[in-house]
Amino acid sequence: MRRPVLLLGIWMGATAGLLVYGPEGQSRPAEEREEKGPPQKKLPPQIDYSRLRQLLQRGNYNEAEEGYTQAVQRDGSVAAYIGLARVQREVGRYSDACATLDKAIKHHRGNADLLAERGELLYLLGRWEEARQDVEAALKVNPGNLRARWVKACLLRDQGELTAADQEVRTLVRAYTEASGTDQEIRDAQSLLIIGLAGAENARRHRRHQQFAFILNEVYRDAIKDDPDCWQAEYQAALLLLEKHNRAEGEAALDKAMAINPRSADVLTAKGYVAWNQGRADEALRYAERALKTNPKHAEALRLLADIRLLTGDVAGARQYVLAAQAVQPRSEAIQARRWVLEYLRGSPAGMQAVETEVTGFCRTPGVWHQEIAELLVQLKQYAAAERHYREAMRHRPDLAAAQAGLGLLYWQLGREAEAQTVLREAFRADPFHIRVANALKVLEHLAKYTTRETEHFVIKYSETDKVLAAWLADYLEKWFAEYRQKYGYAPSSKVLVEIIASREMFSGRVLALPGLPGAAQGASTGPLLVIPSPRADGKMQVYNWASVVRHELTHVFNLQQSDYRVPIWLTEGLAVRAEENHRFAAHRELLQARYLAGTLYDLNTIARGYHNFAQPEEVILAYFQGWLYVEYLASRFGEETIPQLLAAYRQGLTTSDALRRVCGMEQVAVEQGYRDYLRDYLRHLPRQEPQLSLAELEAAVRQQPDNADVCARLAGEYLRQQRWDQARSWAGKAWQLQRGHPGAALVLARLKQREKDRVGAIAILEDALKEHPQDSRLLRALSRLLLQEQRQEKAIEVLEQLRKLRLADEEALETLAGLYEQLKRPHEQIAVLTELAQVRPDDLAVHKQLARLCHGLRDWKQTVQWAEAALWIDVGDGEAKELLLDALKALGQKAEIQRLTARYQ
Ligand SMILES: [Zn+2]
Repeated sequence: MRRPVLLLGIWMGATAGLLVYGPEGQSRPAEEREEKGPPQKKLPPQIDYSRLRQLLQRGNYNEAEEGYTQAVQRDGSVAAYIGLARVQREVGRYSDACATLDKAIKHHRGNADLLAERGELLYLLGRWEEARQDVEAALKVNPGNLRARWVKACLLRDQGELTAADQEVRTLVRAYTEASGTDQEIRDAQSLLIIGLAGAENARRHRRHQQFAFILNEVYRDAIKDDPDCWQAEYQAALLLLEKHNRAEGEAALDKAMAINPRSADVLTAKGYVAWNQGRADEALRYAERALKTNPKHAEALRLLADIRLLTGDVAGARQYVLAAQAVQPRSEAIQARRWVLEYLRGSPAGMQAVETEVTGFCRTPGVWHQEIAELLVQLKQYAAAERHYREAMRHRPDLAAAQAGLGLLYWQLGREAEAQTVLREAFRADPFHIRVANALKVLEHLAKYTTRETEHFVIKYSETDKVLAAWLADYLEKWFAEYRQKYGYAPSSKVLVEIIASREMFSGRVLALPGLPGAAQGASTGPLLVIPSPRADGKMQVYNWASVVRHELTHVFNLQQSDYRVPIWLTEGLAVRAEENHRFAAHRELLQARYLAGTLYDLNTIARGYHNFAQPEEVILAYFQGWLYVEYLASRFGEETIPQLLAAYRQGLTTSDALRRVCGMEQVAVEQGYRDYLRDYLRHLPRQEPQLSLAELEAAVRQQPDNADVCARLAGEYLRQQRWDQARSWAGKAWQLQRGHPGAALVLARLKQREKDRVGAIAILEDALKEHPQDSRLLRALSRLLLQEQRQEKAIEVLEQLRKLRLADEEALETLAGLYEQLKRPHEQIAVLTELAQVRPDDLAVHKQLARLCHGLRDWKQTVQWAEAALWIDVGDGEAKELLLDALKALGQKAEIQRLTARYQ
């Protein structure tokens, strides 16, 4: 008497208090796989059906097909036909599978299993009328046929006959419950898979949340016990776990399924979706492609590829996959939703209407269709339309918990917090496992304790610890608002909600509704909402330049609304980085150069992929860097006025190539060419990076080109690295002979002189080489170091200044130079160098304060105000910066400004 009723199982919702990744306490016990023999079947002895079944289940499709084909020929049994049809179905040969079952039904007229099998296949392929006939016929022969009943339930549900569908599902659940404990108990894996699906459907519809645990812990576990090769049990368990937001265990179950059948297109696609939802686009692509290798007509894999294309801006590519998926499953609401979204993006009301007519033609209550549309629209930032579709989904299918959750989270994301709370509470009742809903409610509870301050265009929410920062923001947000309104020729129509979140965890919660947002993330904006973490989050000081973060995010607020959320990511991120007014990406110039030389830069068609590639931080950096340079290029080449014009063009739904043609009067190819020329110029002084070669490779290269100075010098360099001084000397000497002043040779020879404690000799070599190559940064850097060791400050300054002039001074060079000017008491020059350093280190409080101090010392009050303010933009609580600012304002007689400043600290 293991299972008296189906309502058993221990399942706890999200724990109170902290944010959680996944529901706790819903773990599935590790199953002990009892090795049982295959079910005893009365089959001709010469065909080993259990072996064939194993081949099929483990993804050895060729062998399985061969075996089942022989079995069909030899005994023509029902099991042989079903096995063959399943292989054909797994590899996407759907018409072959249909033909196999047609033939089988001719041989075994009136066989319920075969009819149910064909009914299921036809249902999947959207041939619902025929499917209905098959399952009705099967149920007439055998009312206890679980598969036929389940397919009937699905058909009714998908057509919108929800009550009738519910009755069929209940019949299935009852059949299971009534049989348990009797000798009729349902034990075979195939039946348990159906019971699992029906049980979950029943639990969803009637909000019997405890049943999910039972299905996971009992039903699917029993299926695996019955058939250790039943990957479908792990797969279905995984989908249920993922639906209930338990990603960790969902992924683990998928891995188990994959361990049984590494070629299942279902499992591979599910893995792809998990990766995609985690922002791992490349991995998702690889899984989808692997799935298509098994089954080139796998509708879900095609749909995944369509989604990836769609959300990385490749609408034409997306369309191709959507059409391919639709050809396989013409009545899938999810696929039809993608078709509709493509029409929406094209701005075609007729196209949208045509899809809707088609969908309502086969489904009376297309709630899933609306729900899928809404989810995609959220991802495409088409919030107003998304809201309408969530509402429609809820109207058609009040049982769809996901629609409520989606709507609640949408309101929450848009800062409509009061409405969000109401909907989210309801959504939580419908689905207490929805982690993001639970977390959002916790964050709202946390926010309820905040203070609100309103200005003309903003509502600022903050906790007591951020009172001063909020006061600064209140002033500066309005200043920047005016600046942006001027710049973009646009202003948001309603007040922007700005939140300063007091803890990192709650900040992550406010942004993702999940914990775990990387510490590097300093701000987020959704359009009407702008969020930053408190620099005093969790009681620790973690200063950052809140002003540049807010200027960055405020740019998104403007761009998103101005373009009706259609601005491509490169443009708004490019503008946002530009608005920060610093050069923080200069440190990554070598990355940009390497990709430029390798020809692997992004272009405007591919760049969107980079921003989402969180698994590869270098790609993200490159995308941001390139996006910024696209904006700089467009503004310098075509004029500042092109920026608002581009935003307006996107608002009208133009593609990038159309927008560029209209605004810049140029084809996209020409713009891209101009951009690459711009990059070449931007990178022109950077030393060329050589690929790493081994000693053996270099020796071979020298044998081939004995008169090539570059190769000789590189070989010398490698010998130097290996401390083989004589060889290093002789090859460097040869390179120098071949080309007087060769920089590589000079560096080796200078190092050898240094080894001999002959610094003067080393300096002479480098100076000699610089006569031939005055812009070589490696020579300049090496020379500056030697000069400093020789205490020749003036000369070192000259060399470092040369580097600076070439825009090749890195942070270390700038620091050294600033230090030299300080020693020599040359504050004007020191200020110039520190200004550059502040540009590449926008978060460095010490540098900004030092600048304020220096300007104050020079009684340059205006500059003191600028730098003291900039220091306070990093830490509003810095006493010295505040004093310097007050002093300078007094000297300038700016009484009103002094009053405003002191008011911020009251
Ligand atoms: Zn941004």
